[in-house]
Amino acid sequence: MCEHHHATRHTLCMQCDLLVALPELRHCHKATCPRCGTTLTTEWDEPRARPTAYALVALFMLLLSNLFPFVNMKVAGVTSEVTLLEIPGVMFSEDYASLGTFFLLFVQLVPAFCLVTILLLVNRVKMSLSLKTFLARVLFQLKTWGMAEIFLAGVLVSFVKLMAYGDVGIGSSFIPWCLFCLLQLRTFQCVDRLWLWDDIAPAPLPATPLRVGVPGIRQGLRCCPCCAAVVAADNPICPRCHTKGYIRRRNSLQWTLALLVTSILLYLPANILPIMITDLLGDRMPSTILAGVILLWSEGSYPVALVIFIASIMVPTLKMIAIAWLCWDAKGHGKRDSERMHLIYEIVEFVGRWSMIDVFVIAVLSALVRMGGLMNIYPAMGALMFALVVIITMFAAMTFDPRLSWDREPESSHEES
Ligand SMILES: [Zn+2]
Ligand SMILES: [Zn+2]
Repeated sequence: MCEHHHATRHTLCMQCDLLVALPELRHCHKATCPRCGTTLTTEWDEPRARPTAYALVALFMLLLSNLFPFVNMKVAGVTSEVTLLEIPGVMFSEDYASLGTFFLLFVQLVPAFCLVTILLLVNRVKMSLSLKTFLARVLFQLKTWGMAEIFLAGVLVSFVKLMAYGDVGIGSSFIPWCLFCLLQLRTFQCVDRLWLWDDIAPAPLPATPLRVGVPGIRQGLRCCPCCAAVVAADNPICPRCHTKGYIRRRNSLQWTLALLVTSILLYLPANILPIMITDLLGDRMPSTILAGVILLWSEGSYPVALVIFIASIMVPTLKMIAIAWLCWDAKGHGKRDSERMHLIYEIVEFVGRWSMIDVFVIAVLSALVRMGGLMNIYPAMGALMFALVVIITMFAAMTFDPRLSWDREPESSHEES
């Protein structure tokens, strides 16, 4: 009966390669993969009006948060005040242009670009089909690199760190920034990937009959990595978005392992070199990641010490171990437990970006703590190394093809009857 399924839309799960027939969904309901539980599509109310409204308000909030002072600090009568744009500005002037660029990109430019792109695509602004597919492609690739909310968490952590030295306060831009973080997350949430691509161009129909509940690799089908269309495996170019793709990511394991080794090599200097230098009355004290955690702990800020410990030390270490384990498992070693491997992959994908929090803390501290001869904080080499570790492990997780863990599953465990 599988050959004569009446559902109009089919999709291959991007995570486990199972062919799923999508049912007609009621509003605000989502369809999940029966094998791995990944959300395949969500049917939103008002798929155009909602993201438009959220994105417009979010962009307005972003504008407001760049116009006024963001945070301020008072120590012994000396006041220091910074705007959002001054934070990367300080990094540029301190010879850490790379960190400043990361900051500008991840915190402001990527989220702003994604919001504008969503506005253009969702409202069917007149432009050529090739431009539309290009924008949609970039949109979904850039999504994970927007880190506005992680920066916000970094600001809160730096408040706790600075309370020991003086009075910290928020400026008029702080509340707009919080709203911006919330609204941009909500905008992304309301845009369904399958819906958006179907809206740009109808999904191509593969010539062969589809067998629901069977992995694509066993029926000569592949999922387009960009627009999620079901494409014949021997066709390297997707007919809808013209992205090149193969049945499995090419040299996935080699790429992942190469990036993993690079990140491990950078992880050593990131932990040994100081991440920032505190200049207190002319006394320069370098501090490493671990020293920062110990200092917070000894000051009694246990929750924040824990947050930094988990984000900066535990998560990167576990992430590297998890990626290595995934590669080892995908090569055919280990017990065949695809579900557990999948869970690990999901966690690694989700938490990886949050390690960036310590880099943002340093960015805020070094911009805000400029108290003349009293106290100054400067970024140091370890911060750049650590940022690179986070970025490279994110790439390592992205180059890993999660379907490799599922390919070894015995056949027909999920076939519909
Ligand atoms: Zn799945
Ligand atoms: Zn495609």
